[in-house]
Amino acid sequence: MFPELSGSQLQLRDTAREFADKILIPNADHHDQREEFPRENIDKLAELGFLGLVAPESFGGLEQNYVTLCVVLEELNRGCASTGITVSVHNSLFTGPLLAFGNEEQHERWLPRVTNGEVLGAYAITEPDHGSDAASIETTCRKDGDGYILNGTKAWITNGSEAGLIITFATLESSLGSKGICAFIIESDMPGFSVGKKEKKLGIRASDTVQLLFEDLEVPASNLLGEEGQGFKIAMHTLDGGRIGIASQGVGIAQACLDASLEFAGEREMFGRLLQDNQLVSHRIAEVATEIDAARLLMLRAASLKDAGMPYGMEAAMAKLFASETANRAAHHAIEILGGIGVSHGHKVERLFRDAKITEIYEGTSEIQRLVISRHFRT
Ligand SMILES: Cc1cc2nc3c(=O)[nH]c(=O)nc-3n(C[C@H](O)[C@H](O)[C@H](O)COP(=O)(O)OP(=O)(O)OC[C@H]3O[C@@H](n4cnc5c(N)ncnc54)[C@H](O)[C@@H]3O)c2cc1C
Repeated sequence: MFPELSGSQLQLRDTAREFADKILIPNADHHDQREEFPRENIDKLAELGFLGLVAPESFGGLEQNYVTLCVVLEELNRGCASTGITVSVHNSLFTGPLLAFGNEEQHERWLPRVTNGEVLGAYAITEPDHGSDAASIETTCRKDGDGYILNGTKAWITNGSEAGLIITFATLESSLGSKGICAFIIESDMPGFSVGKKEKKLGIRASDTVQLLFEDLEVPASNLLGEEGQGFKIAMHTLDGGRIGIASQGVGIAQACLDASLEFAGEREMFGRLLQDNQLVSHRIAEVATEIDAARLLMLRAASLKDAGMPYGMEAAMAKLFASETANRAAHHAIEILGGIGVSHGHKVERLFRDAKITEIYEGTSEIQRLVISRHFRT
């Protein structure tokens, strides 16, 4: 595999692989059908240290890099994409920016409880009227004594009702555009914070997706993340890292589709031979397997660049775009191969088909990834 994984990386990947096979796969349809947050999965993953994957050992983390995060997330998502996104958001959209932009006092205050899973993290930028156009958010932060008062509504927030800590974004003055945006760490027990409606979704139905309401929410200055006006930069930097996590999700879902296709085609007999011996079916398998490898390589390239401290925004967008579209094509082919069984409610391929669609939407739609990529080629 490129890049070569160390002994400890292989061990963590194998632990995630075994966890997916033994715990996640047998329970994923159950959670999906009940739209039930997989709390017991998250608690077990916390025991394995997977909620502190990228945090330093001094704060109880595993101090791993993004390549490790990717290979672990791929396995978890192969088993259950709802569990995968919960872990991905916690590590890459919450812990990542807290580490990168938080000060020492903030690290000491929050990281130990975040890495051991006592507190789950979330990231809230989207609003009912502002998704792709995140620079236009309307949630306000007004300076008040030694702190800020936040008012506004955040929408579609993963881990939103389960999280104890949420990184969020608000504007000091909308006429300042992206330069007026500040980032804050909200604690869910702060007066003025409440959870709004829960979204009923097509896919990743067991993940927690809700609106968050800020009504005269008092936030002390010590909860400001980075500098005043640095919020938009923090938001975009965070999404670059998060997109590598969604690429891992795309690869994991695609691999699960391929596994299901191979299992079925290797057992199902018709017209006197196994389905896999049908040339049209074997071509589908070859196409999907090749695309998964390409998506995995793009994912690992983006993660390796990030780990090396090199620019990786375009590569992360390419990995997210290609891996999420690969997941959708793999799910389409899997349903074609399985026939009627593939569309029956409660079959894993039907769930994977629905889960795959979400990867093309969050952390920037495919159109937004194309915009991000094309900017690098403008003359
Ligand atoms: C399950 C789920 C979980 C989510 N979790 C989170 C979370 O944890 N935190 C968070 O902050 N957000 C989260 N989101 C929100 C997600 O990031 C947004 O849905 C996404 O950014 C798109 O925004 P939108 O839905 O408002 O669509 P819009 O921005 O309104 O876009 C609608 C359509 O217009 C297209 N479009 C927009 N601009 C352009 C353009 N310039 N050129 C061409 N086409 C364009 C888009 O591609 C899309 O097809 C989540 C969403 C989902 C579905």
